[in-house]
Amino acid sequence: MAQPSIVDSGTGTNIGIPKINSASSLKLDIAIVGAGIASLSAAIPLAQKGHYITVYESAPELSEIGAGVQMTPNAIRLWYSWGLGPDLLKNAALPTGLNVRRWRDGEMLSYTGLTPDFEQKFGAPYFVIHRAHIHGVLYEHALKAGVRVQVGCRVIDYDYDAPCVTLAQGERIQADLVVAVDGINSFARSHFMGSEASGPRRVSTAAYRLIVEVEDLKADPTTAWIVSSPNLDIW
Ligand SMILES: Cc1cc2nc3c(=O)[nH]c(=O)nc-3n(C[C@H](O)[C@H](O)[C@H](O)COP(=O)(O)OP(=O)(O)OC[C@H]3O[C@@H](n4cnc5c(N)ncnc54)[C@H](O)[C@@H]3O)c2cc1C
Repeated sequence: MAQPSIVDSGTGTNIGIPKINSASSLKLDIAIVGAGIASLSAAIPLAQKGHYITVYESAPELSEIGAGVQMTPNAIRLWYSWGLGPDLLKNAALPTGLNVRRWRDGEMLSYTGLTPDFEQKFGAPYFVIHRAHIHGVLYEHALKAGVRVQVGCRVIDYDYDAPCVTLAQGERIQADLVVAVDGINSFARSHFMGSEASGPRRVSTAAYRLIVEVEDLKADPTTAWIVSSPNLDIW
């Protein structure tokens, strides 16, 4: 298969693929579809390398959706390298360890040390944080890096040759590169892959989540121990 490359449209010279880790002398105009965690995580390092990034988000505003997420060092290490560490840590909880317990009687089956073990082993911690805090920090740093975020812009069509996206309002946006990061029900995936796009499938497993006030847990002797130390417990 031929290696992908970039050809200077003015001179016709093949200028290869810019290295992502070097300061980029080639400034690309990049359109990113979606303003979620993945999208903003793509936008920040690209903008920090000097590319011109515009993010198109269908929602009319960026709101605080989601709940607690557990983040692992492979992702956090990258965020740290872009300078997000101190802002993320302001709102993160660093659990001491992960307890896996028997569902029937709570007996401990295994323990994995998380803090400080993970930072020592993997170069970044393991933390628990509200999705809205991650998103807020990514958004702030994206703006700081020069990313433009346009809300209320649903992409309804892609032209792969141009390349170009069409917004629901009818506007056609041309760019050097289009990156679609539009979530689990991705329109880009179905547009690109047509009937071959499998998309999310129903499985016979369900996950329920609930949020309980810490004070209520503390007040009940059967649950107070859960919040007596910063651990994760899985039954
Ligand atoms: C309760 C809960 C707990 C979770 N816990 C964890 C966890 O512990 N660890 C973990 O790693 N993950 C966890 N996840 C999953 C994680 O939150 C998601 O995988 C992640 O947020 C997905 O990010 P994304 O950027 O790919 O998609 P999204 O966050 O869905 O972002 C996609 C964006 O694209 C926009 N968009 C869609 N279509 C268009 C269009 N046509 N035009 C323009 N914009 C468009 C959407 O409005 C959206 O803003 C959890 C999820 C939930 C709900």
